[in-house]
Amino acid sequence: MRHVLTSFALMVGLLAPATVAGSAASAERAPVPSTSATGGGAASADRPVAARPKKKRKNRTKVRATWSASSVQIGGLAAVTGKVKDKGRLKRKVVLQMKHADGWKKVQSTKTNKKGEFALQVPSDWLYSMKSRVLTKKKKRSPGAKSKTQRFQVVPDFVPAGSPDSWSYLNPANRLRWNPCQTISYRVNVAQAPAGTEEAIHRAFGAMSGASGLRFKFKGYTEAIYRGRPGTGKWERDTDLVVSWALPEQTTLDFSGAHAWGGVQDAVWGRDRKGRLGKITKGGTTFDATTPGGWPYMKAYDVLLHELGHVVGLGHVDDPTQIMATGVEGPYIYGAGDLTGMRTIGKQKGCVKTIRRRGADMISPADAGLLVALP
Ligand SMILES: [Zn+2]
Repeated sequence: MRHVLTSFALMVGLLAPATVAGSAASAERAPVPSTSATGGGAASADRPVAARPKKKRKNRTKVRATWSASSVQIGGLAAVTGKVKDKGRLKRKVVLQMKHADGWKKVQSTKTNKKGEFALQVPSDWLYSMKSRVLTKKKKRSPGAKSKTQRFQVVPDFVPAGSPDSWSYLNPANRLRWNPCQTISYRVNVAQAPAGTEEAIHRAFGAMSGASGLRFKFKGYTEAIYRGRPGTGKWERDTDLVVSWALPEQTTLDFSGAHAWGGVQDAVWGRDRKGRLGKITKGGTTFDATTPGGWPYMKAYDVLLHELGHVVGLGHVDDPTQIMATGVEGPYIYGAGDLTGMRTIGKQKGCVKTIRRRGADMISPADAGLLVALP
């Protein structure tokens, strides 16, 4: 535009050479002394023509992408296929990104073939609904490019019961979340649990991971017991979370009215896209090994889902169709409200960062009102 304007102005002889460097706008506003046009006349007449930069033919990179579906059930297959159109026949790296609450993040990447074609699998191992796009980065002589965006969601393979609003925070004042951008390690103390309990524990972690996007890693066995108090009991250093079966005298948790507790043991001040919150650094659940009737597999599994819900920051609801309801056995599967809660504390809502303060970034969770455990 600017070149067009200035060269046009020069051709009609209205501008002095000195103003060529100015912007089109200032050139237009500049006074037009008729003498200066003759002063540099000859030079300015052909110089701009010779110096006029050749139109740079930029390599226009384009990414075309097609999603095989916009919605898939958990565990289902979905792919993005497409082509990078480029001048050079180079293999390009392409990245599938999803827009989490704290921005676009890489979820998958691959290289195109020589024709620029690519195929990427869309992750479907947890429930989410996010915008997605395919991007190729800038390379020497080729600019980067992005595809159009496409909302993609992974939905449950069952119809969740109840209202999506039937959920609550374990600590509504401070919100409590683990950092979903880190793997949470857990150990189990099942010496006093019935056979088969360990399998129920791993299964419950799997269900919670699928609902929230949180990642858990089993580190092995422990003698540690979650006590609901900050700093109590020695845990292996690699352990963030403990699931334990204990005798009432082995813990300070009150087993007189409840046979299992779950919650947070340590937390620091953290921050996510919504603001300040309690960042959970240690948590766990303890089951009363002396519970009348014991812990048959499905009952253990159901209560594990409930207690682990507390461990990741969820509170109670009245709706008996939800896992986070109190005083009922069942429903053995997450309800619609549970799933909203899991999504709210989970990966889609972005990373949780520690707020570092000079000297000490650690706060006393009890002082800050962060420590919460519930039956
Ligand atoms: Zn509870």
